[in-house]
Amino acid sequence: MSDTINKLEYKPQNAWKVYSSPEHRDAMDSLAREYVDFLSRCKTERLVMDYVQEKAAAAGFSEDFSTGAVMRIQRGKTGFLARKGRRPLSEGFRLVGAHADSPRLDLKQRPLYEDTEICLAKTHYYGGIRKYQWLTSPLALYGVVVRKGGEVIPVAVGDDPSDPVLTITDLLPHLAYKEVEKKVSVAFEAEKLNVLLGQSPVASDKDDEKGLVKKQILKLLNERYGIDEADFLSAELQVVPAGPARFVGLDSSFIGGYGQDDRSSVFCALEALLAEDKPEFTQIVLFWDKEEIGSDGATGAKSLFFEYTLEELIDSWEPGTRLSRVMMNGTALSADVAAAVDPDHKDVYEERNAAFLGYGPCFNKFTGHRGKVGANDAHPEFIAELRSLLDEAGVPWQMSELGKVDAGGGGTVAKYLAIYGMDIIDVGAPVLSMHSPFEITSKVDIYATMLAFREFLKA
Ligand code: MN
Ligand code: MN
Repeated sequence: MSDTINKLEYKPQNAWKVYSSPEHRDAMDSLAREYVDFLSRCKTERLVMDYVQEKAAAAGFSEDFSTGAVMRIQRGKTGFLARKGRRPLSEGFRLVGAHADSPRLDLKQRPLYEDTEICLAKTHYYGGIRKYQWLTSPLALYGVVVRKGGEVIPVAVGDDPSDPVLTITDLLPHLAYKEVEKKVSVAFEAEKLNVLLGQSPVASDKDDEKGLVKKQILKLLNERYGIDEADFLSAELQVVPAGPARFVGLDSSFIGGYGQDDRSSVFCALEALLAEDKPEFTQIVLFWDKEEIGSDGATGAKSLFFEYTLEELIDSWEPGTRLSRVMMNGTALSADVAAAVDPDHKDVYEERNAAFLGYGPCFNKFTGHRGKVGANDAHPEFIAELRSLLDEAGVPWQMSELGKVDAGGGGTVAKYLAIYGMDIIDVGAPVLSMHSPFEITSKVDIYATMLAFREFLKA
């Protein structure tokens, strides 16, 4: 067979082979170390925004919209960064958007109770979780309690080596004969996702006084944070996996850690933005909250935060230009992770159109379910531009769908930006064990994703 005929066939490129030089491997390793540190430090959307603000400020981004590099963080949970390009805003922008929230267990507003002389906290899960994955492992507690006067008290327990951790118990196998016969969907009940808080009673004169353990926990919370039980009503406390992100595998080629959906995209977008500081078009990087529960709310992608902020930017940078014109000329990547083929669960994927670890960032022309319902289906003209951009830059990438047709489905925020008329497509690193407390990515995919975002933001 001649080479010309062989070249007619398409095969995605293995990113490890593309980035085999020592220079690439060094750059990949140093990026991976930074990423592991970021994941370990930023376990909530608020902490992600603190990180973004700190790094962007150090790179010269300010809240003053008359400058060429601006940022705005809204309610500590969603963020907007923009850098002026050589061309005017009216000619469009290059935008990368990612979400900073991840599935977790939120404490209820009246969480505390005592049972069998143990104090526990009730939770209400946030986002799509497989409940059994959260049992019998060390957990941390993060968030804020806001007192009546408006004082915001940060809480962080479980990640400092001197901290205790929290956990949720599970039934021993010896007494689970009946439970193991149940369907998974009914065997693990949300109301049993209760977190152990303590077991020592507060001192009491009376012999038979009840509720002493809960009282002891309240006393401890009051001493430590100055709060009482009613303050939980105005609190946002998240139970998340405790412990740092880690390298995984004998060759350390994987990264394991909580929240990689979608903090891998947040990290890659921020790194790319900070690295490409002389753009042709205005660069915008957006970080959203609430993606895992439908993008609603004042800090979700369906909110008007982006529109309002862009309006202000136009007033400052290019007064008189219509917002609609800027939007219609915009080009965007909806940065979100993809479901990588799991060697133990190949039956839910269609392998010719699936994402594989080690093949670089994964584009999804569409998402949705049951016949693409709810999808932003990216235009082929735009995909052709991206193909040419990445192929010329030598960045490996792949195209996939989320599993077999009718095996399930899912959506992203692409459609909420597509309504403005801009070109947009989903893209992100492939992930194994997505939405679990210990998600897995490949080091080389994080590297390639960051480089892909750089090429896009530079172009
Ligand atoms: Mn996501
Ligand atoms: Mn998700």
